[in-house]
Amino acid sequence: MRILLSILLYSTYSMLGLPVINVPGCSPIGENFVKTVAAILLYLQGIGPAPQFDELGRPAWIFSIQTAYESCSRGGFYEEGVFAKNYGDKECLVTLGCWGPVVQCNVPRRGWINAIGGCMQMGRICIGCTMPGFPDKMTPFFEEHPGALISSTVSRVTGSLMRSLRMISMQDKLRKK
Ligand code: SF4
Ligand code: SF4
Repeated sequence: MRILLSILLYSTYSMLGLPVINVPGCSPIGENFVKTVAAILLYLQGIGPAPQFDELGRPAWIFSIQTAYESCSRGGFYEEGVFAKNYGDKECLVTLGCWGPVVQCNVPRRGWINAIGGCMQMGRICIGCTMPGFPDKMTPFFEEHPGALISSTVSRVTGSLMRSLRMISMQDKLRKK
């Protein structure tokens, strides 16, 4: 079944006219796949509610709303305009080509297995492998893309101000009186 899902990825109907369920990713995240199959089986058994799918045939409760950025552990760095210069740095990776702010993916929240791991958690950029435009619209990989250049520049300005104000507030809270 997984092979069938992969072959028919990003088609909402198969050549036989049957509805297709897409669990995107390269490779799809195992827990997303199992959870989708479990939801369908529970529904067919009359135990669970009807699972909802979006216009791309993806499980809506997993892919429709959230972006990778929303739950990325490096989001605070993005907000304060602090960015990585090299792989291995702890800051936001958008300057190295991360697509997380515009990619629908729950890996930063779910992790790879049992909430462990994940692309940005492990220091790698998001290359948008769950998106229908992948890979062509995400290339060249590992380069800051034009939209990210604009947003990171804005974030550097507003974020540095915010960070300075927070440091002042932090210093105040470090004093007992
Ligand atoms: S750009 Fe990438 S690394 Fe930076 S906060 Fe967003 S998802 Fe995380
Ligand atoms: S590369 Fe991006 S879209 Fe693909 S699994 Fe990692 S975080 Fe999700």
